Amino acid sequence: MDPMIKTNHMDVVYNLGKKNEFKAITDLNLEIYPGEFIALFGPSGCGKSTVFYSILGVLKPSSGEIIVKGENPYAFSPAELVNYQARTIGIIYQAFFLINSISVLDNTVLPQTFLGIPWAKRKMRGQALLDRFGIGNKADNYPMLMSGGQLQRASVARSMVNNPDILLADEPTGNLDSHSSDQVMRVLDEINKKDKKTVIMITHNASQLVWCHRVFYMKDGQLLRTVPNPDKKQIVKFDRQKVLVTEIELLSKMFPYFEPEDLKVKSLVNYLTQDLNFLQIDRLEKTIKQMIARVMSTENFYEILSAPLSREGVGLPAARAKFLAEKVEKILKQSEDVRRYRRRMNEGVFFDREDKLINELLYYISEEAEIKVDRDQKAILKQAVRDRVSGLLRQEELDQILKDPVSKGGVGLDKKDREKVVFYFEKLLTQGIDTANKS
Ligand code: ADP
Ligand code: MG
Repeated sequence: MDPMIKTNHMDVVYNLGKKNEFKAITDLNLEIYPGEFIALFGPSGCGKSTVFYSILGVLKPSSGEIIVKGENPYAFSPAELVNYQARTIGIIYQAFFLINSISVLDNTVLPQTFLGIPWAKRKMRGQALLDRFGIGNKADNYPMLMSGGQLQRASVARSMVNNPDILLADEPTGNLDSHSSDQVMRVLDEINKKDKKTVIMITHNASQLVWCHRVFYMKDGQLLRTVPNPDKKQIVKFDRQKVLVTEIELLSKMFPYFEPEDLKVKSLVNYLTQDLNFLQIDRLEKTIKQMIARVMSTENFYEILSAPLSREGVGLPAARAKFLAEKVEKILKQSEDVRRYRRRMNEGVFFDREDKLINELLYYISEEAEIKVDRDQKAILKQAVRDRVSGLLRQEELDQILKDPVSKGGVGLDKKDREKVVFYFEKLLTQGIDTANKS
């Protein structure tokens, strides 16, 4: 199967040759296949929208090339480019960009106006799409009177009006509450599944990755890694790739409607309890949520854990309550080093405390897993810890390094020790990864 979109060593530079020249995309190589639902995922400023505009044919790569349906849009004549933008690509923006002075139906069929399609035909097509997306009764309304969720569904209708092959959506739910977001995601999913459109969605919201076949993680203008979603049947078979599937990404697939903060709660509670009943777990989750948010002291946490169920407590024996409270306190405190390290890393500067943070993490993990290593093993383990925190190693790859003998550049741990190291390290990663960064 040929890719729908392919970039070859694409660089995009803003203000080329000027004093404020800025390289927004560096050596981008990606392939998106017909029928795929792809997420471009990454922090604000990493270049997601830049890729969007390059695909749209309005931002020429400064080197390398982009090929859409076998053709280079930047080689088109002006007329061919207009045709490409009208017929091959549908676009949806975070801010909707509907025109307030004309009706929703007129907005929906606007892309057809430029193709010279007669009014009666346009109207039928537009109305059918609005009906399909559940806002048929709003056709004569003006956008100003509609909710965000309705406006976004109207702009989805507009994007589909010329029946394009590709749907580009830049943060389509960025301005919506969770209920409307969910409706829009369902609509995009349906367009991908039923209409077999290739959908490319830009997002920084991890809970939406569950809808996609593959996630393209971007950072600093580069494609860091691509991750196939194990829960979706893939359109194309891929080799195993360099991925970092953290527990939080897995959890976000299991609980797609949970906020990342709630997933952190699940992760910790799952670690602490196997034998409690639902009521106890429910109370524990609520209390741990406050601990993770750092609005509860360890002393209060202990008191709630040990208070009887009849007094709104979790009803644990005192010794266990104490043990759990200390454990949670420890994980949350130690995970701060992960957070500090990743913050500094995302700022893209080397910093003098970097080594200290990795050493501390190494110490915490070794202590918790009760492993003893010699100098050579320690050096390798330290590098592996650094790479895993940086996102350069998958959990499986870390495990392999822990397993390989020192002679092969590994740490040479036995199975039990490896499991303890990986298990605890993943807990620190899950709590330490910033999930609240908005773009
Ligand atoms: P994202 O969509 O991931 O938030 P963008 O693609 O919008 O990121 O931007 C990537 C980088 O390029 C950012 O550092 C941004 O400041 C820069 N950038 C975006 N547009 C321009 C522009 N028109 N001129 C100069 N720099 C720009
Ligand atoms: Mg953007």
